[in-house]
Amino acid sequence: MFETTIAGSLPKPSWLAEPNKLWPQWRLAGDELAAAKADATLLALKCQEDAGIDIVTDGEMSRQHFVHGFLEFVDGIDFAHKVEMGIRADRYKAMVPQVVGELKLKGRVHAAEARLARAHTTKKLKVTMPGPMTIVDTVADRHYGDRVRMAMAFAALLNEEARALAADGVDVIQFDEPAFNVYMDEAAGWGIEALHRAIAGVSATTAVHICYGYGIKANTDWKKTLGAEWRQYEQVFPALAQSRIGQVSLECRNSKVPMSLLRLLDGKDVLVGVIDVASDEIETPEQVAGVIGEAMKYVAKEKIVPCTNCGMAPMRREIASAKLVALGKGAALARKKYG
Ligand code: ZN
Repeated sequence: MFETTIAGSLPKPSWLAEPNKLWPQWRLAGDELAAAKADATLLALKCQEDAGIDIVTDGEMSRQHFVHGFLEFVDGIDFAHKVEMGIRADRYKAMVPQVVGELKLKGRVHAAEARLARAHTTKKLKVTMPGPMTIVDTVADRHYGDRVRMAMAFAALLNEEARALAADGVDVIQFDEPAFNVYMDEAAGWGIEALHRAIAGVSATTAVHICYGYGIKANTDWKKTLGAEWRQYEQVFPALAQSRIGQVSLECRNSKVPMSLLRLLDGKDVLVGVIDVASDEIETPEQVAGVIGEAMKYVAKEKIVPCTNCGMAPMRREIASAKLVALGKGAALARKKYG
């Protein structure tokens, strides 16, 4: 009961990439970079295991950014001529690559880190990828002329990689869809259909992560405009409850999401965010267990998987490590209290 996991990313060591940045530059290149990514992946696994995390990830050490780490492996994208685009309904501007032709995978995307992680941990292993709707919201389209058609094209590529990851021994494949919280109507419609395309025939457990973003200023400013109660999930959860996705990851700690909305995910495993990634204050085990106790009012306890609110990539390393420990201890306390 209360198996723990993380949303996906951990901070990269400063010898691998610039610290505390969402779009860090690598410190090395070529074979040295590949070796450093592998070393950092092993450290990320060790750090999670020591903290008592049950479903571990590679910490996303091998990708520069959670969306572009996938796009780099796709043919039909022009990275040399990035353009400025407002993303997440213009919440912030980003320099994004352009889709200029038919999309095709160049080869495997996450094979190296997934196989390395699989060989070095006996824990359940999760690999994350960006969801189709979030991808189309983070690239400029100069080819498809239609968001849904382009999303389905990306979903087919995600499906190819997801099937291969499952064959590599990955237990959980998660798609990150922060865009679901921005385009709620489209999410409940074609967003979930695109996810179904991405998970078709995938033998691993499947998950979708829907959050209010990393703890960066553009997001914390946006949250201030959302009012006293954040009800975005209310529009997407009923459709997700009907979907073929196995698990839903969401944010609860220090969030204005009414916990009663969790009731709308009936039947799903719920990855309850019990760790705030937008604050450097370390949660106490009691606080973590407290959020789990709140979630239990709306979700059967065997369906609760304590998790972080979002990825920890831009955080300070020692803070992220302490938060992992709090997550592990808080879940252990909850097992004792509610077991
Ligand atoms: Zn997130």
